[in-house]
Amino acid sequence: MYVPLLDLKAQYKAHKKELDEALLRVSESQYFILGPEVEKMESSFCNYLNCKHAIGVSSGTDALLVALMALDIHPGDEVIVPTYSFFATAGVVSRLNAIPVFTDIDPITFNIDPDDVRKKITKKTKAIIPVHLYGQSCEMDSIMNIARQYNIKVIEDAAQAIGGQYKDGRMVGTIGDVGCFSFFPSKNLGCFGDGGLVVTNDDELGEKIHILRVHGAKPKYYHKIIGGNFRLDALQAAVISVKLPHLDSWSQKRRENAKTYYDLFIKAGLSEEPGKLQFDSKNKVLLPKAVYESINGLKNYHIYNQFIIRVEERDNLRQFLTDKKIGTEIYYPVPFHLQECFSELGYSQGDFPIAEEAANTSLALPIYPELTNEQLIYVAKSVKEFFDRK
Ligand SMILES: *Cc1c(COP(=O)(O)O)cnc(C)c1O
Repeated sequence: MYVPLLDLKAQYKAHKKELDEALLRVSESQYFILGPEVEKMESSFCNYLNCKHAIGVSSGTDALLVALMALDIHPGDEVIVPTYSFFATAGVVSRLNAIPVFTDIDPITFNIDPDDVRKKITKKTKAIIPVHLYGQSCEMDSIMNIARQYNIKVIEDAAQAIGGQYKDGRMVGTIGDVGCFSFFPSKNLGCFGDGGLVVTNDDELGEKIHILRVHGAKPKYYHKIIGGNFRLDALQAAVISVKLPHLDSWSQKRRENAKTYYDLFIKAGLSEEPGKLQFDSKNKVLLPKAVYESINGLKNYHIYNQFIIRVEERDNLRQFLTDKKIGTEIYYPVPFHLQECFSELGYSQGDFPIAEEAANTSLALPIYPELTNEQLIYVAKSVKEFFDRK
């Protein structure tokens, strides 16, 4: 059996007619940049996320960059980010000559550790970028309390969590001052290239992001501020408009797949329950956990952009699964504080033990919505075989 990490062709096949029609519509209009397709998509997101402003941009990375620019992050300002995320979260801070200040992560969710955030606040701290990693919300109440106490802005990196919810049902991305999303093809809502979205409930920030997106001009050719080309194409917007109405059912399917994995791994004797933190003979596989899901019936809608297990012999398991034609990935092998490009920031090995351990033991298994039950069973059975092999 073949189980890729992600099968984009399966999703395309299921919605080919609507998608092809949308592409053709743009082709016939010959209206490619911003315009009515982008505006239509933006207003759909205002409805879906229940927020005031949604601004389509060129990528998730540019969404973060433009958010920092809109918040006037200057050279030398400090921005607190988790050391464990996709590179863009920290890269955008350095591109503005501001200083990314790293924190460790929570061992269960892999999300930014609010206690560590509090310790890293200085007079220069201007913003915090919590990342809703793998599709699960950060502990936003704590982050927002810290931010209010110190008058610091919060930019949510929700690139992996579109449609995810925090514990009281608020949509991730709409809790902080600005929220950033990505439509990179491997995200839960992927377009046919690069694309991103910035959202905010602040009118002034919304207006500023609109202007920054087009080189800071308003009206055209009259530049109020220095922006960039952060525009989204009509083709991408048309694809996203077709896909958005399906997003919740895809997320639900991912959640069902996760549930199936939980049952299969527990039944196979590889784990006692989700969220265990210690390897032992009954927990050879540490399963992820949706942390708030069962508290008082409050919702925490984890949308499983990735399903991350931890195993001690991670690299050997990965090779074993590759030989069985099962696609896996390591998100992420090197935390920011150990990246060569950040070496001048003065961090060293051992500074963030939880992130370092995650980098050494985590492995992403296929979780995409179109997976069949047979494929899920094959993946779990193959992991079991790995542990039974000697
Ligand atoms: C994908 C991703 C980004 C960047 O999005 P692009 O659209 O690829 O530029 C930023 N942050 C996180 C956490 C991501 O996963």
